[in-house]
Amino acid sequence: MSRFWSNTVKTLQPYVPGEQPRISGLIKLNTNENPYPPSPAVHAAIAAANDAALRLYPDSQASALREGIARYYHLTPAQVFVGNGSDEVLGLAFLALLKHEAPLLFPDVSYSFYPVYCGLYGIAYRTVALTADFRIAVDDYRQPCGAIIFPNPNAPTGGLLPLAEIEDLLQAQPDVPVVIDEAYIDFGGDSAVALIDRYPNLLVVQTLSKSRSLAGLRVGLALGHPQLIEALERVKNSFNSYVLDRPAQAGALAAFEDDAYFRQCRDAVINSRERLNAGLRERGFSVLPSAANFVLVTHSQYDAVWLAAKLRERAIVVRHLAQPRIAQYLRISIGTGVECDALLQALDTIL
Ligand code: PMP
Repeated sequence: MSRFWSNTVKTLQPYVPGEQPRISGLIKLNTNENPYPPSPAVHAAIAAANDAALRLYPDSQASALREGIARYYHLTPAQVFVGNGSDEVLGLAFLALLKHEAPLLFPDVSYSFYPVYCGLYGIAYRTVALTADFRIAVDDYRQPCGAIIFPNPNAPTGGLLPLAEIEDLLQAQPDVPVVIDEAYIDFGGDSAVALIDRYPNLLVVQTLSKSRSLAGLRVGLALGHPQLIEALERVKNSFNSYVLDRPAQAGALAAFEDDAYFRQCRDAVINSRERLNAGLRERGFSVLPSAANFVLVTHSQYDAVWLAAKLRERAIVVRHLAQPRIAQYLRISIGTGVECDALLQALDTIL
């Protein structure tokens, strides 16, 4: 069998996804989903798309969805790209934009998919250390490189970089693509979308999985200069598999059109986050400042892996990530108020 394995495949370090338990009755705070259901308008749009239209192929350009997103962000459809989740969009961006001799830069504590893509596509990369208090220091990215990528807010720390610092970086590095992965931006930050018209090297990647409660539908997007978007389109169109299906196109458009519902759920998550932070601090945890729908926490007296196991015994799933600098931390997604209270009560039986 070994002759079927190329050396490249043997060296790949595939991503280890968070547990997606099948058993109901668990409080699932491990993969940063939204605890609230999507807008009722999304259900209606998907039901309509599931009807007779399912017989037909989808629009490979996703024109209606891209127009809707362009309206929402005051852009043109030529500045909008959509894919099956932002993981797919990021994968296409890595293929389209990041194949340089010079390395791609990203933080040493960051989204664990980045090194996986680099391995897969043979992209050289260099990690840039976060500061001692886990912040991104943009000045450290002013070095020769092929491209730059980081999440804002960063994941899994939750730390937010102000827009002014991103703008400084874009000015310092006008000739390299800068990809800002805004999976969590709606929970407390200003989007770099505002900078797109001034910086043709900026690509903003977003998802409907978090703030719009649609992780199961798989819709992500990229916003940027038409030339960057065209680069993504060219890679996408070189395959025949990256088209969004009809229910996804219809559901995603409906999600963007129901802004009142979006704001309501987002505000509820932010309120729960602040209450959960206070409760965790009262119980002796250090909580990193988070502008996302999760918090990264550590306890000076209890081991992180042991704590995660104790919570699992109490039907609560949180995430321990295998990154050396955060080995003693747990990432906890923000649930409903009731779920966050249940977590705190469970901790009272453990600590
Ligand atoms: N970027 C970051 C920073 C994430 O944490 C995630 C979710 N794991 C993604 C992108 C991908 O999300 P999705 O594919 O669901 O859009």
